[in-house]
Amino acid sequence: MNILVTGGAGYIGSHTCVALLEAGHSVIVADNLCNSKADTLDKVKRITNKEITFYEIDVTDEAAVDRVFSNHHLDGVIHFAGLKAVGESVEKPIAYYYNNIVSTLVVVKICQEYNVKRFVFSSSATVYGDNTVPFVETMNLLPTTNPYGETKAIGERILTDIAKANPAFSISLLRYFNPVGAHESGLIGEAPNGIPNNLMPYISQVAKGKLKKLRVFGNDYSTVDGTGVRDFIHVVDLAEGHVAALDNITEGVHIYNLGTGQGTSVIELVKAFEEANGIEVPYEIVDRRPGDIASCYADASKAKRELGWTAKHDVKSMCRDSWRFEKNYKE
Ligand code: NAD
Ligand code: UDP
Repeated sequence: MNILVTGGAGYIGSHTCVALLEAGHSVIVADNLCNSKADTLDKVKRITNKEITFYEIDVTDEAAVDRVFSNHHLDGVIHFAGLKAVGESVEKPIAYYYNNIVSTLVVVKICQEYNVKRFVFSSSATVYGDNTVPFVETMNLLPTTNPYGETKAIGERILTDIAKANPAFSISLLRYFNPVGAHESGLIGEAPNGIPNNLMPYISQVAKGKLKKLRVFGNDYSTVDGTGVRDFIHVVDLAEGHVAALDNITEGVHIYNLGTGQGTSVIELVKAFEEANGIEVPYEIVDRRPGDIASCYADASKAKRELGWTAKHDVKSMCRDSWRFEKNYKE
């Protein structure tokens, strides 16, 4: 298939380009590089020994997106493009609502105009809010605590309404849990701008000596050791989940959790990183971070049942691959 990957130069997008190319698909990327670099796509080409067509465009620009669709006979779209920093979304709600909602509307509108029926949307486990774990796709969604999370919940609702009005559409809403890790080549991975917000890149940068110590946000949650519990998923597994979703897509809207189904606490992840890589990660316990929930992990059985997809990598390989990428990475 010819697949348009919006946001394909980003962290999850670049790994998904690798998985798509390795599965024999052709890949067209549309990315404005607001949070990524073009050379990531050169690395994807090196890993796969295959070509990618790249458009440096903003996917909120309808005319630019239209040009891409008119240049290629597309079979499907994976829509990753979006802003994703939770804290920044509180400071800049207009930028987040505008970019994340308008991009989704523009891309799906052009899909409809060109009769491109397969659409895969990057959603997030954040839409579950403070439900009881494990999170199941049938749960009612609870309010999220920030504009970023709202853009995902709204994006899901928009796409659900569009699929109802146009039954030919096949839409998958993929709710990612906590993507970590990197491609085993060490060439592509997560390289956040500035000080990382997320746990794994923070741990890796402490290990590298770039940051002094990890601040563990709270050890008084009702979890195994009091620290937050998350469902970390290797980005390569996540990428393969997208290929499975595209292959299996059927008419209507389908929601899938992409997680491992296993919870790991912050301290457990620190220890796993230290053991996997033989390197110490100094940390201190500080106050809870506002907006955090105690536990977040998936019931991942629906994706297994319907897509035949399960996550294969364990926490140790997530830690090893994250560190390999960080060690090699030059700004
Ligand atoms: P990322 O920032 O690495 O990738 C997003 C890409 O989209 C970047 O390359 C950026 O330049 C591009 N982009 C943003 N706005 C654009 C626009 N208007 N036009 C064109 N390109 C644009 O982020 P990621 O971690 O790879 O996340 C991909 C998607 O998955 C996002 O929608 C994100 O919200 C979602 N998601 C991520 C996580 C996570 O923890 N990483 C968890 C759940 C959901
Ligand atoms: N966390 C932490 N220190 C950090 C970053 C994160 O203790 O510097 C904790 C956070 O409180 C949460 C878990 O790690 O319990 C995962 O946070 P992250 O921001 O990576 O992802 P989230 O689950 O919030 O999307």
